Amino acid sequence: MIIVLLGPPGAGKGTQAKKIEGEFGLTHVATGDLLREAVRRETSLGKQAQDFMLRGRLVPDRIILDLIKNKIRGGASGFLLDGFPRNIIQAEELDELLEAENKKLDLVINLEVNHNEVIDRLNGRVICPECGKTYNVDHFVDEPLVCKDCGSRLSQRSDDNPDAIEERLKVYLRHTLPLIDYYKEKGILLSVSGERSPQEVFHRIVDLLQRVEDVH
Ligand code: AMP
Repeated sequence: MIIVLLGPPGAGKGTQAKKIEGEFGLTHVATGDLLREAVRRETSLGKQAQDFMLRGRLVPDRIILDLIKNKIRGGASGFLLDGFPRNIIQAEELDELLEAENKKLDLVINLEVNHNEVIDRLNGRVICPECGKTYNVDHFVDEPLVCKDCGSRLSQRSDDNPDAIEERLKVYLRHTLPLIDYYKEKGILLSVSGERSPQEVFHRIVDLLQRVEDVH
C-alpha cells in the first residue's frame, strides 16, 4: 500500500505515521524529518533547505523531488508519505514517479484539525531529539522536560515559533489545502478528525485501512 498523510502542521501526521508504520509494515517517509537530518549533518541539501525551513516556507520543489525520488525508486513496496506532497506540482510529480515504477497511490488520509487548535498545539509542542516523540509542554507542570520513553531532554523545533507558525499555516492554506480537492477528484481521499486523542485517531485510521486492505 502507498499512503499519503495530509493535514495542516500540528495535525498529528508524524505521531500517526509512527503508529501506522508499525501496524501495517509501511516505510515512513517524512520529508520534514529528512530535511532536518540534512540540516543537522550540514550537508549541501541541508544548507540549501535551512533558511526556507526556519522561515516556514516551502523548500523548492526541485530539492524535495530529488529527495523523494531516491526514497521511492526501487525501494520498499509500501510507503507512508508524511509531509509530501505539499502542493499540486509535487502531487503531479508523485503520480508520474509512481507510474514509472508501476506503482500507484492507494489512499490519502486527511487529518482535520481546526486552525486555533493547530496554533495551540504548535506553540506548546516539544520534541525528543533522540526518538522524535512529541509532547505538549502543558503536560509537564511540575516535571522536568524529558522524554517519557527514552529520558532525553525535550526541545522546541526551531520553526515552532510564532512567526514561522503563522507563515507555515499561510503556506498550508495556499499551497497544500488544494490537494484535498485534487485527491477527492481521484476518489482516494478519506478524512479523519484529528481532534481526538492520538490513540482514538489511530483506531479510526486502522479501521479505515483494514477496510481498504479487504477491498484490495
Ligand atoms: P514538517 O516537518 O513536515 O512540518 O516540515 C518542516 C519544514 O520542512 C516545512 O515547513 C518546509 O519548510 C519543509 N518541507 C517539508 N516537506 C516539504 C515539502 N514536501 N515541500 C517543501 N518543503 C517541505
